Amino acid sequence: EKFKSFGIETARIEEWGEMPVGFQRGPRQSAKMVAPAVRELEFTTPSWSPGTEGPLRGPAILEPTTEEELAAVSAKLSGAWVVAPPASERRRAAPAQLQRKLYELGILGRITSSGSERVTTGGRFTGLSFDNLPTERRITVRKSDMDAIRERLERAEKVELEFDMDNTFVPGPIKLYNVIADIVGTERPDEMVIVCAHLDSWDGPGSVGANDNGTGVVSAMEAARILMKSGVKPKRTIRFALWTGEEQGLLGSRGYVQKHKDDWDKISLVLNDDGGTNYHGGYHVIESMAEMFRQAIAPVSEAFPDLPQRIEIVAQMPRGGSSDHASFNMVGVPGFYTIEAGRADYGHVWHTQKRPTGVLDPGVPCSILGRSRGDVALLCERGLTLATSGDAGGRSPPPQRS
Ligand SMILES: [Zn+2]
Repeated sequence: EKFKSFGIETARIEEWGEMPVGFQRGPRQSAKMVAPAVRELEFTTPSWSPGTEGPLRGPAILEPTTEEELAAVSAKLSGAWVVAPPASERRRAAPAQLQRKLYELGILGRITSSGSERVTTGGRFTGLSFDNLPTERRITVRKSDMDAIRERLERAEKVELEFDMDNTFVPGPIKLYNVIADIVGTERPDEMVIVCAHLDSWDGPGSVGANDNGTGVVSAMEAARILMKSGVKPKRTIRFALWTGEEQGLLGSRGYVQKHKDDWDKISLVLNDDGGTNYHGGYHVIESMAEMFRQAIAPVSEAFPDLPQRIEIVAQMPRGGSSDHASFNMVGVPGFYTIEAGRADYGHVWHTQKRPTGVLDPGVPCSILGRSRGDVALLCERGLTLATSGDAGGRSPPPQRS
């Protein structure tokens, strides 16, 4: 709808696959020590992991890490929250087989420390089925909370914990879609430059996905808005793509690539931004592309002299990588990830409970990000396209699969 409001009538969703089981992390998410003192805990659980169906309170008990320790406490385990060793002593934790026994003996869940003040959320849905859902509650709390719990337990105080995690599974299959919107080319509409980012984000308590990858999404959309507003009529199509399933393994972009095999030769390049709140500081390119890219970013550097751009030469186009441009590089279509330049601390908010408030780089309004992406997309489209440059250096043959 937003793309359509810019005048891009081609905006649509495009199915790329399905998920066997859905996961909803409801709004009710709380964790606290309730005795001997009240303390709110910052925590997370993996996505696609079970919740509590209401507040679940129980005594905390230090994790038995050997069969002997297990025998000594086995009568106390049912209905208890088990507290694992601190992150610095992770190797001392109960081995997997012993952990399974703890769950069989009826523990409410197992609590580990993230080892820092950030808790990081992940998770996977591959291999799940609705009649065989995970049942083991696995909770991560930040280091200071873990220290507070363990200190009391080590002094033999009685500690009670309460978790309320409104996590539910949704029967699948659930269809999955990317968002696609084209400014259709006037002369070669089937050739294209792709400007992209990913719509999905991890959903741990406190996370809003602003950093990864709301920022990339708004800069792609802002590029679309500015290009439409300017009335530009590109010869080739500029395609805006907002992927889903990125966090589970670039699934949406890989699905797109497989679905559009006939288009591989027609995609000049893919411009991806998945690096948070900093500004677009340039691109890593191979030698034969450098001059084209220098020309493409020159107007951006001129328009925003305070935000210098650079082209860095690399020996070869990367094949792998940790964001959606890699899905294209894997099949020989040049995909680029913007160099992120600026002051924001990406690691502070990446997949964690910390919001980017206060670390959003105030010097870089969204319109500048959009402008820089729009300019580069347009200039790549205008005769600087790698596909038609006659230079095979930009394309590598698709990897052989056995
Ligand atoms: Zn991302």
